[in-house]
Amino acid sequence: MDAEIYTMKIILLPFYFLLFTSALFAQSNNTKPTSSIRIEMLFPEGKSKALILSYDDGPEADRKMVKLMNEYGLKGTFHLNSNKLDTKGYLTKNEIKTLFKGHEVSVHTANHPGLTGMSKIDIVYEVVEDRKELERLTGNTIRGMAYPFGSYDNSVVDAISGLGIEYARTVNDSYNFSIPKNFLIWDASIHQFGKAYFKPNNPENDKQELKIFNDLVSNFIKSDTLALLDVWGHSWENEGEGNRWNAIEQFFKQVSNNKEILYTTQIDLVDYIKAYKNLQFSVDKKIVKNASSMDVYLKIDGKAYKIAGGAQLTILI
Ligand SMILES: [Zn+2]
Repeated sequence: MDAEIYTMKIILLPFYFLLFTSALFAQSNNTKPTSSIRIEMLFPEGKSKALILSYDDGPEADRKMVKLMNEYGLKGTFHLNSNKLDTKGYLTKNEIKTLFKGHEVSVHTANHPGLTGMSKIDIVYEVVEDRKELERLTGNTIRGMAYPFGSYDNSVVDAISGLGIEYARTVNDSYNFSIPKNFLIWDASIHQFGKAYFKPNNPENDKQELKIFNDLVSNFIKSDTLALLDVWGHSWENEGEGNRWNAIEQFFKQVSNNKEILYTTQIDLVDYIKAYKNLQFSVDKKIVKNASSMDVYLKIDGKAYKIAGGAQLTILI
């Protein structure tokens, strides 16, 4: 039997050689070298920009935030602490499902402790308890998270890996529009209005922070390359002294109704990026198969393509 296989290999050897040389010949004569074929992701519907709005803690002010988002056709991602719901100043458990319809509900741990320094079992409890309760309240799978106080380190990331959490947002600002490489250390682009109004600041600093925020938003709108603007904050920041709801509404107006922008929850975007990353390419990059159920959009050498869920495309380059 072994000898038979060995003989087969010897017979096939010249064949392989022929295939290899003909591939080389084709490449040097009439096709572009595979390595120079540029493949770039596009967002769903072929869009080049995406907007994520991510708000934490589940305070009562989320009601007003959701209402405004709905008015402007925007989508939000809301990170909730299930043990804080039904307590003073927070949303009630009963309203979660209807309030956040069309938006994302996501983990912010059950009790909002700083996770750094906690034992693995306590971290697991905080995340899984929250996940389980939010799933019960919404009737959906909950797969996203934001670290309470933005507190994380390698052991925290290690503890949440394998708990069904597919991304975890920090409180670090990247000040850019790129997609984070490690989804479990997901830095947003910027805090709403920079850090102006969030932490006690002097008016000069606030002015600076606001300028940085406004410049980033205008650059996003002007951008002609793939851009993700990811803004995070707390709806309670807009309440009280110096009411900021007007400013939030202005911001929503500025970014809404734009055909180039995809308005998405964070988990929907994560699912999409994963589908893109799972595209199967032939060695010469001319055959692309989309094994997922989502339509995937990409640019090959500057030309846009849509590959429907489950479809395969042969590209003529
Ligand atoms: Zn929080």
